[in-house]
Amino acid sequence: MHDCSPRAIVEVDVDAIAHNLHLARQAAPGCRIIAVVKANAYGHGLEQVVRRLDAEQPAFFGVANAAEARQVQATGCSARPFLLGPNPPTERAEIAASGWGFTISSIEEADHFASLAADAQRVLPVHLAVDTGMGREGFLPTELGEVLAHLQGLPSLRVDGVMSHMPVADEDEVFSHAQVELFEQCVREVSMHAQPRYVHLAASAGILRYKVPCANTVRPGLMLYGIAPVHCTWEKQLRPALRLRAAVTLVRSLPTGHGVSYGRCFVTPHSLRVATIGIGYADGWRRHLSGRGVHALIHGQLCPLLGRVTMDQIMADVSAVPGVQSGDMAELIGPSLSVEELAMQAGTIPWDILTGLGPRLPRVSCSMGGFSRCAAV
Ligand SMILES: *Cc1c(COP(=O)(O)O)cnc(C)c1O
Repeated sequence: MHDCSPRAIVEVDVDAIAHNLHLARQAAPGCRIIAVVKANAYGHGLEQVVRRLDAEQPAFFGVANAAEARQVQATGCSARPFLLGPNPPTERAEIAASGWGFTISSIEEADHFASLAADAQRVLPVHLAVDTGMGREGFLPTELGEVLAHLQGLPSLRVDGVMSHMPVADEDEVFSHAQVELFEQCVREVSMHAQPRYVHLAASAGILRYKVPCANTVRPGLMLYGIAPVHCTWEKQLRPALRLRAAVTLVRSLPTGHGVSYGRCFVTPHSLRVATIGIGYADGWRRHLSGRGVHALIHGQLCPLLGRVTMDQIMADVSAVPGVQSGDMAELIGPSLSVEELAMQAGTIPWDILTGLGPRLPRVSCSMGGFSRCAAV
């Protein structure tokens, strides 16, 4: 018999994600949810997250492209995929034929989707994206009149939603309040010509910080995974859902003055017990975490990581932890090693750390009781 335990693994508490979705509902009372599961559900494993969240009846699952929409659909869930951004011509025929939710930001997209729908003798529901400040997608508010007039001539499209996106919900209240007002004006203008069923502006930071009275739908991403992008009253109730662990592969004593890893940036100041751990930047353990005072948790104790992160391996000082041996698991992200802290140490943001976790790491779901159930892995 071979022992197939993976060398490094991502364990996900899918019930924590469902709990966080309930918090999004409390923070945005009465709103429908577009549960954002793009980028492999922020590294948590798209399939297992969709399967669990579908029971909570979101309106849509938010994705980045047609391939992700297909992955969502393949789970057999009842909520439909929703493409969050603009779509290139190559993906539009599939989107139009599949009944996925999508946005339009230009007359060109409107005309293309209208002709695809007309060819299939269907009426396609579309969400009008409005650019109220993000500068990434959407019609400008000043273009709305012209766009709505143009849509009158495209009977194969029906305006089913109005949406926009907030660029500084986490840092600029003055701008964001003005943006909420501008969005409200846009929604009023659209509503004179159409009956959009879905009106949505807020992602996680917007949900946690702002009231958008005209909206009836929200698009939580990061907060579903238990991380608050802003300080807020809900912060303490969010439950982080991911644990990253990797196996110690070797433990040795190194003498004084011995370099550890490429560049010899760390040289032992005295003799040390050094553990080699089977994870590296090819797994998404960022090279920017080298020499930043990051720790691994081994036998319940924080052990400083030493020297540069290599492609498949990192090293930790285990001098203070007796009995560490090859095969022991080291925790790198978990209840006492937060993604926020790591992001800060790597000079980046939590989204980047989570979505960077690579395909080499298996995703295992542990529901009912959280991580303790995964302890055997
Ligand atoms: C990714 C994305 C979201 C989710 O953002 P979070 O900050 O992770 O909550 C919401 N809306 C759009 C349009 C997105 O692209």
